[in-house]
Formats: sequence, C-alpha cells, structure tokens
Amino acid sequence: METLADALAAVTAAAGTDASAWDRAGRIPEALVRELSRGGLLCAQVPAEYGGPGFSSRDNGELTAHTGSLCGSLRSLQTSQGMAAWTVQRLGRPAQREEFLPKLAGGALAAVAMSEPAAGSDLSGMRTGIRSDGDTVVVDGAKIWVTGAAYADLLVVFGTYERGTGVAVVPGGTPGVTVEPVGNPLGCRAAGHADVRFENVRLPASHLLAASGAPLPMLVTTALSYGRLSVAWGCAGLVRACRIAAVRHASGRVQFGEPLAGHQLVARHLAELVTAEHLATLACAHASTRWDEGSPDQAVAAVLAKQIAARQAADGAARAVQVLASAGAHDDHVVARAYRDAKLMEIIEGSTEICQLLLAEHALAALR
Ligand SMILES: Cc1cc2nc3c(=O)[nH]c(=O)nc-3n(C[C@H](O)[C@H](O)[C@H](O)COP(=O)(O)OP(=O)(O)OC[C@H]3O[C@@H](n4cnc5c(N)ncnc54)[C@H](O)[C@@H]3O)c2cc1C
Repeated sequence: METLADALAAVTAAAGTDASAWDRAGRIPEALVRELSRGGLLCAQVPAEYGGPGFSSRDNGELTAHTGSLCGSLRSLQTSQGMAAWTVQRLGRPAQREEFLPKLAGGALAAVAMSEPAAGSDLSGMRTGIRSDGDTVVVDGAKIWVTGAAYADLLVVFGTYERGTGVAVVPGGTPGVTVEPVGNPLGCRAAGHADVRFENVRLPASHLLAASGAPLPMLVTTALSYGRLSVAWGCAGLVRACRIAAVRHASGRVQFGEPLAGHQLVARHLAELVTAEHLATLACAHASTRWDEGSPDQAVAAVLAKQIAARQAADGAARAVQVLASAGAHDDHVVARAYRDAKLMEIIEGSTEICQLLLAEHALAALR
C-alpha cells in the first residue's frame, strides 16, 4: 500500500457498508480482515524494511479514524494488530523483528493479552507465568477479554518472568492454547473478544521478546501507548460519524413546522458534536506529532488523547442518539452502534479513572 489515500480507499471498500451486518453476526469475514492485513493496513506504522507501509503516526491515525468512523470492530482489530507489531518492534531483538513483523504486515492476525480475572486496571496482579526452560519458553495462565483473539494467528502475551515481566509471542494453534469467545459483548461485537487459557504452552526460546525481565511499567507502557493513541483516533472517527448522522437527520426531519436543526436545543447538540470531534481530533494530532518527533512526552500525550477522545466519543454518541431519537434507536443504526462502542472506549487501554490518575501524576511530577 503506497499512500494514505490508497489506504483510506481500501478501508472504505472493505468496510463502507457492512459494519452493521458484521455487528449483528458478531464476526467480520476473515478473508476480508486478512486482505487488509496483507496490505499492511492493520499495522500501518510497520516500516517498509519489514514489509509494512511505514506510515507516520499521524497518517496511521487518519487511517484509524477513518476505520473508526465506519466500523468499531474493525478498528479494534487494527488497534490490536498495531499494538502487537509495535510491541515486537520495540521490545524484540532484530531477529525477532525480522521473524514476526513481515507476518503481521503480510496477512497474519494478532492480539495482545494482558488482562486476567484478578488483573484489570492493576496489571501487577498478573498471574500468567512465563519461564525459560533450556532452549524453550513455557507459558501458563489465563487471559480475558482479548480483542481479536478469536481471529488471531499470534498472541502477544504478557506475564511474570524472572523478577520482572515477560512478553511471549504465542502462535494461536500451539498445543495448550484454548480460545473461548466472550459472549454478547456490549459493543464492538465483531472484534473477536475472547478469553484465552495457556496450559504448559511450550515455544522456541526465540518467541520470548528480548526486553523480557524488565519492570512491568516499562513493558506495559510501551504497548499501551500505541493502543491508547490508536483507540483515541478511532474515537475521533466515531464522533465524526455521529456528527454527520446527526446533522443530516436534524436538517431533514421536520417537527413543529421546521427542521429539527431550527430548534435551538437540538442545534446545541450539533454544536457540541462539532466541538467533540474537533477536541478529539486535535488531541490525537498533538499526540501523533509528539510520537513522530520521538518526544519524551509521547506517552503522556497518548494518555491525554485517549482520555479526551474517549470521553468526547461517549458524550458525542449519546448526543447523536438523542438527536435521532427513535430513528437512531435501532441496535444496528450507526449512532446506536457508536453509543455502545463508545462506552467501551472509556474502559479499555486504561479506563477513564486510570487515565485521570496518570494525568494527575504527570502534573504533580512537573512540580518536583
Ligand atoms: C471491549 C473490551 C476489549 C478489551 N480488550 C483487551 C485486550 O485486547 N487485551 C487485554 O489484555 N485486555 C482487554 N480488555 C480488558 C481491559 O483492559 C480491562 O477491562 C480494563 O483494564 C479494566 O479492567 P477491569 O475490567 O478488570 O476493571 P477493574 O480494574 O476492576 O476496574 C473497575 C472500575 O474501577 C475503576 N478503578 C480501578 N482501579 C482504580 C483506581 N486505582 N482508582 C480509581 N478507579 C479505579 C476502573 O476505572 C473501573 O471503572 C478489554 C476489555 C473490554 C471491555
């Protein structure tokens, strides 16, 4: 895939009309997802030397927002795949980058597994164990709510390792891996969320990423920073779709003798939607600029973007449903889907409360 324009067109062709049907079915046709993966469009920041499009964070963000405006489930897969690739790129040694990145940009599908029954916001509670055993590495444990796991060929698994944290790349079909889809998720219903068990899963030692053994915050922040920024761009796209649907409806539907948009309380919702889209997009653009500059504050900029964009998405989607009222109150209407999907964005990649704690910590650290 050569340019951002080509990438946007490819995503439109793939997801332009079918998102509601996928949401109802709880599944995106796998061939279509693989086709996007083959073009490198699920992890578009993978450098050209590894077969990826080598997009900047800013261009990848525009692509992610576009996907998010069309289909939250596909955007979720894009976030997970990009996060998996980024984790390998940052935490793997050159040979590991050469082994895994061309696969991720060339048709394979991936997911990132951190959460466990007793380790949600607080990942220090992870019990999944990763240990070296001669020239192999062994993974034992249970992960929950892993986005994309129902599609994944490769699972990037975080767990305890020696005195720190380990990250192992586990092929989905390895003996001892069991994938159990999450039933009836609130939103992003076709994103392949699954619980995954690892029972004495044995892999070549080369599947343990090189940075394993480092402290938990360093490894997790690396992966989550990508995820947060990707989710944030997806939220900006979601608000865009809501703004377009609400403006269109409010211009056409007449009540009390004039279009809904002529009633000031409805117009206010439209103004708030424009504001939400703008705020989310600006926060994302800021964070991507920091990312592309390699700025030391890129991690906090990603938290800020995620915090702003997820809240604007939740608020904007609720306003769009309010403007459409009964017309948007069908489960598969774009604004109803956005309303369900947006709520989840306040939970994942660091909930609203966890992002607030991180931002407060950052503000306090600046005083020291
Ligand atoms: C749709 C979806 C997709 C997901 N995808 C993935 C994935 O791909 N990979 C993966 O590993 N995980 C995934 N998860 C799991 C997700 O990361 C966790 O749900 C999230 O980290 C929150 O953990 P929890 O649900 O256990 O909530 P808890 O940690 O139990 O928190 C419950 C509530 O308490 C609040 N809270 C917790 N601690 C504090 C505190 N110190 N101060 C203030 N408030 C606090 C939280 O903000 C939240 O509101 C996904 C979850 C969902 C719903």
